[in-house]
Amino acid sequence: MSAVTRKIFLLSLCCFFSCRAFCWGFWAHQQINYLAVFLLPPEMLVLYKPQIEFLKEHAVDPDKRRYAVTDEAPRHYLDIDHYGNYPYDSLPKKWSEAAEKFSEDSLKKYGIVPWHIQTMLARLTKAFKEQNFSGILKNSAELGHYIADAHVPLHASSNHNGQLTGQKGIHAFWESRIPELLAEKEFDFFIGQAAYIKDPLVFTWNRLLESARAADTVLLLEKNLSRSFPADQKYSFEPRNGLILKQFSSAFSTEYNRQLNGMVERRMRQAIFAIASFWYTAWVNAGQPDLKHLSGKTFSDNDQKEFDDLNKGWQAAAKMIGREE
Ligand SMILES: [Zn+2]
Repeated sequence: MSAVTRKIFLLSLCCFFSCRAFCWGFWAHQQINYLAVFLLPPEMLVLYKPQIEFLKEHAVDPDKRRYAVTDEAPRHYLDIDHYGNYPYDSLPKKWSEAAEKFSEDSLKKYGIVPWHIQTMLARLTKAFKEQNFSGILKNSAELGHYIADAHVPLHASSNHNGQLTGQKGIHAFWESRIPELLAEKEFDFFIGQAAYIKDPLVFTWNRLLESARAADTVLLLEKNLSRSFPADQKYSFEPRNGLILKQFSSAFSTEYNRQLNGMVERRMRQAIFAIASFWYTAWVNAGQPDLKHLSGKTFSDNDQKEFDDLNKGWQAAAKMIGREE
């Protein structure tokens, strides 16, 4: 191997692993928040449509925070198989009951995404009640992130990156590589309208249990396909962000997606619907405040500083706090 080839190889390996660090991938998270806006009623669109780029850009703030804040990581997942077998009845679905049975520290160890979604929903509802422009938008963007994470099968499994079965890298393969390769070309994002959610906690748990049930399929199909697929064609070197990176090849990715039978597309669609519906539910529960007078507002200097600090911290950090994905 020449020096130049070795350098490209090492660089690609490095990026192959470090680019894994984002739930759903930055691209998919941003698309999901962006597309959710179109499901809203006109009374909400008046604020959300002019801010669609904000909601898209800040869809990934919670992942950036994982590089700076110790408590952030468990908000993105739940290793539900730690609590036994489907449907995991030993784990109470209400936070207070679960905390009483297992203690808060123990719950945080294995992830708290379904409960953190309820916290974010309460914050968003409060922001609507107070007609707080930046509170509505920041909490909407971030609530969207956690809801999207709960739709990812490997966010509901302790084998979250295939690390227990020799499949390291499958996390980003499912949630970054597949959507980035196929969503614009093949996925259908005509979804309809947001709906009022009567019981957000039950809704969240249903989605998370679906994720947990799908995790085995995600892992098994990749394992089987890797056995039958020509080994020298599983990966390819392709340009990404100006670098040549080692990735799962287009052929392997396309075949894996075909075998998943629309799972990635289906979970993206369900995430988009859920996010718009949670936004809508918060607005209804706040008494459907008139948002017209907020539409011309801008973020304060303090908000801008908060965004800048988050970006600087993320860019400067060497690695994520807590587990890598
Ligand atoms: Zn995440």
